[in-house]
Amino acid sequence: MTVHGISFDVEDWQQLVGMRVDGTVSEPSTDVDACMARILDLCDEYAVKATFFVLGLLARARPHLVRQIADRGHEVASHSVSHRLVHGLSPADLAAELRDSKHMLEDLAGQEVVGFRAPEFSVQRLDSPCFAALCEAGFLYDSSVFPVPSMRYGIADAPHAPFAMRTPAGTLVELPLATLGVGAWRMPIAGGSHFRLLPTPFVRWAAGRADRHAESLVFYFHPYEFTRRWLYLPGGWARNRQVGKMIALHNFAKGRVEGSLRALCEDLRLVTLRDLAGTVSR
Ligand SMILES: [Zn+2]
Repeated sequence: MTVHGISFDVEDWQQLVGMRVDGTVSEPSTDVDACMARILDLCDEYAVKATFFVLGLLARARPHLVRQIADRGHEVASHSVSHRLVHGLSPADLAAELRDSKHMLEDLAGQEVVGFRAPEFSVQRLDSPCFAALCEAGFLYDSSVFPVPSMRYGIADAPHAPFAMRTPAGTLVELPLATLGVGAWRMPIAGGSHFRLLPTPFVRWAAGRADRHAESLVFYFHPYEFTRRWLYLPGGWARNRQVGKMIALHNFAKGRVEGSLRALCEDLRLVTLRDLAGTVSR
């Protein structure tokens, strides 16, 4: 039976958007706790074990969330410490982000952290030095490659199925985000804004087609997509146009995400990304 990867990028919407507005790091909102409780209960309901890529900034402020994820049988993985884009970091800063997030999460979770997802999928190229740095830091797999063209974070010529990647520092398993082949073109179906645009019956059909073709898919979600509140930052519209755009984009069709996730839980055999990486011959 084909297995598919299910993952969550655990970060606080208010905190990240606030950082974009004025660069200062505020306390995470309490909304992230409520959303995580909802997500963990949903996973229990379907007996699904998932991977949670936790941001170091959030882990530091809310250590109990990391312990809850681990105690309920899920995988804890790294989403860096600060959410700075990987391609903008010096080699020393990148090494520190990987090392510090790994150690912090391992101490909190009591489990080895072997997976990484770059903030905003910011690896950009298959020869990115990030992959060798991951091997050097002791990671076994990465899930930052979006194999689609014309997106700010995509790598158009990347394989779309999980693969072993040779780096100067060793072999890393790469788990690209899910796409659907449409003729010569590939459309993203993994999560995020484009996923919210897709009606649940279409997600169900696309996932079922991949499953029948034995193509493993990797999905991702965020806690904020499970909030029942309107995502909003006071003054955000006026203070920064980009933030105004994010408020509009991230609230759009947010209510559809839980239904689509439930459909995936019902139809597919979903596993942690560590387990999915274990199916790839190195
Ligand atoms: Zn993120």
